[in-house]
Amino acid sequence: MARTFDAVVVGAGIVGASLAYHLAERGVRVAVLEAAPAPATGATAKSAGGIRLQFSNPRNAELSAESLELLKAFPETFGVDAGYRPRGYLFLHPASTWSSWSKAMRRLRALGYPVELLSLEEARKLVEFDPKGLVAASYGPEDGVFDPPTVALAYLKAARDEGAFLFTESPLLKARFSGGIWRIVTPKETFEAPLWVNAAGAWSARVAERAGYRLPVAPYRRSIYLTAPAGARPGPLVVDAGTGVYFRPEGPRYLFGASRPDQPPGFFEGVDGEWFEEVARRMAVRFPWFSSLGLDLKGAWWGYYAETPDKNAILGPVPGLEGAWVATGFSGHGAQHAPAVGRRLADWMLEGKAAGLSAFSLARFARGRRVSEAGIV
Ligand SMILES: Cc1cc2nc3c(=O)[nH]c(=O)nc-3n(C[C@H](O)[C@H](O)[C@H](O)COP(=O)(O)OP(=O)(O)OC[C@H]3O[C@@H](n4cnc5c(N)ncnc54)[C@H](O)[C@@H]3O)c2cc1C
Repeated sequence: MARTFDAVVVGAGIVGASLAYHLAERGVRVAVLEAAPAPATGATAKSAGGIRLQFSNPRNAELSAESLELLKAFPETFGVDAGYRPRGYLFLHPASTWSSWSKAMRRLRALGYPVELLSLEEARKLVEFDPKGLVAASYGPEDGVFDPPTVALAYLKAARDEGAFLFTESPLLKARFSGGIWRIVTPKETFEAPLWVNAAGAWSARVAERAGYRLPVAPYRRSIYLTAPAGARPGPLVVDAGTGVYFRPEGPRYLFGASRPDQPPGFFEGVDGEWFEEVARRMAVRFPWFSSLGLDLKGAWWGYYAETPDKNAILGPVPGLEGAWVATGFSGHGAQHAPAVGRRLADWMLEGKAAGLSAFSLARFARGRRVSEAGIV
């Protein structure tokens, strides 16, 4: 006997959790299927926890802004502190990236976003760095950090309170559509629903294949490194667009990293120790004080970005497959967009309104369209 639901969400990361809650809250009977023994253990547990309004594409900025409001409201809505702290984000730019970035930031300012354009002298009051090769900076005082696993678990609990079911150790093995109903097979049980959503992050192309369609999403390993305790005090997340490195305080330590440009796609396991040397070298060049800190490679961790050809999310229905939806491919900014995306996608699924998400449709790739985003994604 198959279990029947109104909708099945595949993947219990922060995206699937937010969507499950926003569907359940509207009275939809939802099943969430998670391959792992526990929810929120994929990329959601591995992120740097950053949230920023500073995106060059106003659509991305808008998703962050809406998510920020939802995160701020977490204590009243769910009785849970989402961990949001407005520590700020500081972007340092060389001339090659500053002209387009500053234009985009001015546009955000005109739309009312809290973004400041800073001279290098002003930026150096926030953090000490070697200005060689840089021309200016931007700062978002309301950008900051939050706690993605806490948010995902709060959404799942609230979804269950609204009648949703979570099935762990239940990977989607196969999905087939017939007579207006999707049959989703897992090792333990089979589920039936007219709607289902692929929210399996870095694994979403595999899930798509098992359901008979193709998704241009690939996993890319990303490592986050730590210094030894260094007396760090709360401060902004700093991104150096010149060298690609970023860092922020994490308790008394600093966490730091950079996307490796020659990283091949695939589920490579373990911290990237080779890239660590290069990132630490770049950090010391831009932030000379960094070279006196001890490093703690043992504390490092890794996770997978789910990357699309334009490094922006894929959201919405799967063309030609009635009832099949996707919410995946967020690269390095899915945790912060999940609250708004879950809410808007639930609206789209139930009311047929794309609610500002249509630019992220899967169909864009077939039409030769791309979502552009100049910020490090
Ligand atoms: C190192 C790193 C740093 C990051 N930093 C940030 C940041 O600062 N800010 C930010 O916003 N984002 C950041 N991100 C990105 C962010 O973590 C992700 O975009 C976000 O967590 C994606 O959530 P998700 O729910 O789509 O995916 P996941 O959390 O990966 O969830 C997908 C789930 O699907 C499950 N699954 C897989 N296969 C199946 C199957 N067959 N059946 C059922 N379930 C399945 C997996 O087990 C997993 O639990 C970072 C990511 C990494 C790796």
